[in-house]
Amino acid sequence: MSGRISARAYPETLMPRNTTPARPDPTAPWVIDTRDLGRRPGSMRRYHRDVPLSAGIGLDVIEVAAGDEVSLEVRLESVMEGVLVSGTASAAVTGQCARCLDQLVDRLEVELLELFAYPDTATDNSTDPDEVSRVVDGLVDLEPVVRDAVLLALPQAPLCGEDCPGLCPECGGKRAELGTDHRHEKMDPRWAALKTGLKQRLRESEQENE
Ligand SMILES: [Zn+2]
Ligand SMILES: [Zn+2]
Repeated sequence: MSGRISARAYPETLMPRNTTPARPDPTAPWVIDTRDLGRRPGSMRRYHRDVPLSAGIGLDVIEVAAGDEVSLEVRLESVMEGVLVSGTASAAVTGQCARCLDQLVDRLEVELLELFAYPDTATDNSTDPDEVSRVVDGLVDLEPVVRDAVLLALPQAPLCGEDCPGLCPECGGKRAELGTDHRHEKMDPRWAALKTGLKQRLRESEQENE
């Protein structure tokens, strides 16, 4: 086997390329038109939007489910290089406690802070669009920014409470319900062997007596 990887293993569409980012759909709820903000540094506008998620964000154990609303409170500020977006995104999260497997329902709020660079600025010329977001045709798309921020903020092992005692490894019952004195009789293995031997002999003598 030769160690060379055929160039065909990488479809051309997946090759990294410094292209102009796609124009956001101006009717999408995540997209904000910044043209009325103006390009005078310091001008500022606030927006509130409740956006239903078309696809869930998260992992199997915890997620913001598809169809749930993300509540956006953002401030758009014109700066020299572009538009600075700051604010919060909040949403309901559902999942499962990593210890006791109980259903979890919680609310998550994440901070947003993202610069969208104007075309032909120093930032635009010196960075890739996947490093720094871009203002395209006066539009900013908050969806990738919010999705990344939410994904980062979700816990890897969510808990119903910091002190969740989890499950009993012997019977799988919930320790919180079983109580602190819940225990399983553990028989000494030598005694267990003796007991089986006794039972066996008892059965044999019963058969003899029949
Ligand atoms: Zn738990
Ligand atoms: Zn148990």
